Amino acid sequence: MKQVGYLTIDDAPSADFLNKVKLLTSKEIPALFFCRGQYLEERPDDGIYAIKKGFVLGNHSYSHPRFSELSLNECFQEIKQTDEIIDKIYRDAEVTRPAKLFRFPYGDKGSGTDAELGWPDDKEKKLFMRGIQNYLKKHGYEQPIFENISYKWYKNAGLHLDLDIYWTYYTFDCAVAEYRSTGTEHPLGYNNLRSILARMDEDEPEGCRGLNYSRSNDIILLHDYPGIEAIFKPLIEALLTKGVYFKLPIFSI
Ligand SMILES: [Zn+2]
Repeated sequence: MKQVGYLTIDDAPSADFLNKVKLLTSKEIPALFFCRGQYLEERPDDGIYAIKKGFVLGNHSYSHPRFSELSLNECFQEIKQTDEIIDKIYRDAEVTRPAKLFRFPYGDKGSGTDAELGWPDDKEKKLFMRGIQNYLKKHGYEQPIFENISYKWYKNAGLHLDLDIYWTYYTFDCAVAEYRSTGTEHPLGYNNLRSILARMDEDEPEGCRGLNYSRSNDIILLHDYPGIEAIFKPLIEALLTKGVYFKLPIFSI
């Protein structure tokens, strides 16, 4: 049985954000919400409400670009702009910001490739990625302690050492959103709730499907996307049925 799950929810806050906050509150499930600066500007009060309920707001850039397609300065600007918005929301909530947390849009750390597949052996790309990591470090971003994440692929990619936060289990809720909005079928058939629930039952710890693997905890990725509001609750309930106990990671302060 899975011991601990760290719930991370990207692309908040949408119009449905408060419903998610209320559902999670009712189930006593803590979560990190990675917010787009643009969206926080539209719904600062929703951010304040979530903070006061004990949720943590992380930085998910301002306009959600692929960082590998930007200049380093543009990357820094994307991080800085949202950092300032989050700072203000915490001040307005009169709550101390517990940590500076960052997640790259699309998980694109600047290489344009997926961490699950390892990094390209390209000097220029590595320097670019290092430049962003250095910026995060300089500005107080941290990798909090996610206890007992033991997947080899995760460690091989050095994800536990970076100053952004990746994930170990992605629900593929985005693929359902994509199918519903554009009709684009996912190559692996993740077009509906049934298929992504079935994926949760697969047992491939080193293939990013380790929810049934008791020897590693998981950093679980869901989205606060329009169009898939209705599948959020069943996904959470499926995780609870699996025995996942949700915790926040340990921050350095
Ligand atoms: Zn995103």
